[in-house]
Amino acid sequence: MFGAIDVARVRLDLPLRCQCGHLRGIATDVSPSNGLRFVCYCKDCQAFVHFLERPDVLDPAGGTDIFQLPPGRVKVTAGADVLRCLRLSDSGVLRWYTECCRTPIANTAGPGFPIIGMIHSFMDHDADCRSRAEVLGPPLCRIHERSAVGRLPPDAPPPPSLRIFVRRASKMLGWWLHGLGRQSPFFDDRTNAPRSVPRVLTPSERAAL
Ligand SMILES: [Zn+2]
Ligand SMILES: [Zn+2]
Repeated sequence: MFGAIDVARVRLDLPLRCQCGHLRGIATDVSPSNGLRFVCYCKDCQAFVHFLERPDVLDPAGGTDIFQLPPGRVKVTAGADVLRCLRLSDSGVLRWYTECCRTPIANTAGPGFPIIGMIHSFMDHDADCRSRAEVLGPPLCRIHERSAVGRLPPDAPPPPSLRIFVRRASKMLGWWLHGLGRQSPFFDDRTNAPRSVPRVLTPSERAAL
C-alpha cells in the first residue's frame, strides 16, 4: 500500500556496472537531494575520456555528466581486479576507470575526502528501470563551459550559482561528519593507499590527448 512518493523513498539504491559488466557495484541512498549533479566541460575531463577512447561518454559539446556523492555510499560488489587509476599530471585528481572495457568510473581527491564525482557511464539505469533524471534529478549547473567543443544544447543547465556552492559545502560537511569519507571503494581503509597504483601521464602523453 505504498503511494508513489513512498515507493520513491524506499528505492534509493542505484546499480553500478561497467560497460561489459565485469565490475559491478551499488550506490546507496541516491536521490536528487543526496548529491549534486552537474555537467563539466573542462579539458581534463575530456582528455580522460579520450585516453580511454570512449568519446561516447561525452555530450555533443564535450561535457561529462557527473554526480557527486560520498565514497562511503559506494560499494564494489564484483570485479574489483579491473579497477585502474589515472592522473593526467603529478598533482591532478585521481581518475578511475576499468581495464576490461575502459569505462570511466569516477574522479576522486585523496583518501578521506568526503566527495567523489561519479561519471554517468558507471550507472546502470537499464537494470534500475528508472531514467537518470528520475534518480538523480536534472543537472544543477554546468562548469568550465569555456572549454566546450561545440554549442551547448538549448536545455543545458545554468552556470553555477552561489546557492550551489553553499549547498555543496553543506553536503560535504554533513558527509564528513557522518564518516562517509571513509570506507571508499578506491582507497584501502587502513593504509590509505589507492586500490590501484595511479598511472601518471608524462607531459607529452597529456599533450597528445
Ligand atoms: Zn568492463
Ligand atoms: Zn572536468
